[in-house]
Amino acid sequence: MVFCEVIVDIAHSEVDKIFDYACDFPVKEGTRVVVPFGFGNSTTTGFVVRVKDSSDCPSEKLKRIYRADVYAAINAECLQLAKKLAARYRCPLALCLRLFLPSEMRTGKASETYRTYARLSGAEAEIAPRAKMQLALIEYLREKGEEDAARLRERFGGAVNALAEKGVITLEKRRYLRNPYQGVTQSQQERTLTPSQAQAVKTVTETEKTVTLIHGVTGSGKTEIYLTLIARALEEGRTAIFLVPEISLTPQMLAQLRARFGAQAAIIHSGLSAGERFDEWQRLRSGEARIAIGARSAVFTPLENIGIIIVDEEHDGSYSSETSPRYNTFDVALLRAQYNGAKLVLGSATPSVETYRRAKEGEFGLITLKDRINARPMPEVELVDMRREVKRGNPSAFSAHLKQRLEACLESGNQAILFLNRRGYSQTVICRDCGYVAKCKDCDIALTYHSEEKCLKCHYCGLRYKTLSVCPECGGVHLGYMGTGTQKIVEELKKLYPAARILRMDVDTTGGKEGHYKILSRFAKREADILVGTQMVAKGHDFPFVTLVGILDADMSLHFPDYRSNERTFQLVCQVAGRSGRAEEKGEVVLQTYDPENFILRFAKEYDYHGFYEREITVRAATMFPPFAKIVRVMVSGEDEKETLAALKDVYTKLQTVYCSHADDFLFFNRMHAPVKRIQKKFRYQVLMRLTNPEILKEIYDAATAVKYKNVLVYVEENPVNLS
Ligand code: ADP
Ligand code: ZN
Repeated sequence: MVFCEVIVDIAHSEVDKIFDYACDFPVKEGTRVVVPFGFGNSTTTGFVVRVKDSSDCPSEKLKRIYRADVYAAINAECLQLAKKLAARYRCPLALCLRLFLPSEMRTGKASETYRTYARLSGAEAEIAPRAKMQLALIEYLREKGEEDAARLRERFGGAVNALAEKGVITLEKRRYLRNPYQGVTQSQQERTLTPSQAQAVKTVTETEKTVTLIHGVTGSGKTEIYLTLIARALEEGRTAIFLVPEISLTPQMLAQLRARFGAQAAIIHSGLSAGERFDEWQRLRSGEARIAIGARSAVFTPLENIGIIIVDEEHDGSYSSETSPRYNTFDVALLRAQYNGAKLVLGSATPSVETYRRAKEGEFGLITLKDRINARPMPEVELVDMRREVKRGNPSAFSAHLKQRLEACLESGNQAILFLNRRGYSQTVICRDCGYVAKCKDCDIALTYHSEEKCLKCHYCGLRYKTLSVCPECGGVHLGYMGTGTQKIVEELKKLYPAARILRMDVDTTGGKEGHYKILSRFAKREADILVGTQMVAKGHDFPFVTLVGILDADMSLHFPDYRSNERTFQLVCQVAGRSGRAEEKGEVVLQTYDPENFILRFAKEYDYHGFYEREITVRAATMFPPFAKIVRVMVSGEDEKETLAALKDVYTKLQTVYCSHADDFLFFNRMHAPVKRIQKKFRYQVLMRLTNPEILKEIYDAATAVKYKNVLVYVEENPVNLS
């Protein structure tokens, strides 16, 4: 008989519930178990977090573990890591443990080989406006196309069956395919490394430092370095984790990995079906697969004996989690690297200022790759002054120069990518009489017109509204559209170049499974001449026939009220530009701006990372922004404004005590509305702080987590990626 401390895994539970149980059979820490819990015969699942020889619980009260998995789902390292994260981010251990498991395993539905899928039948039915779940579900399916009914039930509850009964959705039971990306194949011979690639591999392998930053311009062959490092780890009998910002955006990367490593590589990402994800996870856990590839969540893969962890495009914002626990992927990767004695490699053409500083100061190793493979030139960037275009009487989104280059590109049979930071049709609907701007009723944000659906959409919550013909404020009829989005650009392009084949890639066109992959592979197969898209097109694709990249509004991200806006703009321009001229033909970039003298754009034009960095780090030092200080935000949000304000006051008072005893360590301390005052019906307030001493964080977490209101969410964010 052994005794176990079991943490019960109750969904949405905000507190850790650890209980002692007795066990008749040997069981390892980290094993998932089924235990009696609550009244009568009811049971629940949980995890053994400690095995011990005795229990303080009186034996007549001690219940027995019913059954257990034959393996420990959470290995010793991961259990320790979960505990560290729980302490670091002050969140329940149960929540941290969930990071290590595919969600379908928790809900116990993943071992089936059949699944029921739901989709809209096309039939209409009366749905009462108060049946919010049903309406939301219809909306969701309209976006997503098809979804696993079990997952829908988790999210929309009874609405799934209700709509099925009404005939609005059809449910179909099918066997699901568990081999993701079967279409992805590509034979790939191992390449001979260039001398600088070979040197990079050598440096990473031989350095004493755990972390190495590879700063290599786009097209400098970083991927080949990663693949070689992974192959080395496998040869040594070790395993590898390869993180990319958004895996569904990088089909070529997948193809390369599959071709090189076959079934040794497992892919983990949200676009997979539940069964696929579960199977890939099992393959990794059991040691059948030894390379985990995926977005940030793949850092939690239950691999043993990790030899290398790679974080590609390390500057990418997606590496920060925006749900609890709000971990930073780098911090987790570092803990795992240290535990396993593994190397951690960060790669980017435009490293974050913070990472680059740590490398320059010697904390991380630094490898610089200045040239593209085969010394292909970086595409030339032309800045176009859009103010002059307006003066010349050209109000369109395309400058004369861009049109001319686009024509030349199409004529030569090459491909072009046009980048725009806004999806939809027009930015906003504005009343020309009174200045009224159409906003979402639940979010403090302007609505965007979508011409295909002929509706206004809220990009924060997805709600749809009818288009307006009369201003609700003043009754005026002079409503106009301001700004431009991807959809509108596509329409203008069709008028300008009727023969051109155009693809659009943004949140609206990439719904459904492998949505990104489909668009990108069509573009790669040259089924289209022009790809118009948002940020998604900026990520690491390698299309050899793209010779022109147009950045339609380089200023968009520059004027964001965020300390990172310079950095983001520089990164974005370099990343998008890097899509051009990757093969034999020379590439070019047309960058349209209303601010052509802007120093960030000037540095970006020359791909002068060092110039940019020196300037930016000086500004940050002078103004005391990260990495010289830490921005901490305590967010307080809830549907009831009074209650939310009461919670805010409570949080503020508690934090004030911290502030008063460490005033010297604070550069800033205040409470206020969040920049977006309301999202999805929730009012949003914040206490914003800037700290010079990260030690105080603990006290801030303590203060914030001590405030508990039933319907108010309170959480801490460190250097948040999104300050809205
Ligand atoms: P990065 O990841 O730095 O942007 P990639 O790894 O995509 O660069 O490499 C750019 C291009 O150079 C790709 O088309 C790749 O196939 C090619 N390439 C990389 N390494 C070699 C090599 N050693 N020999 C020949 N071609 C290479
Ligand atoms: Zn909204």
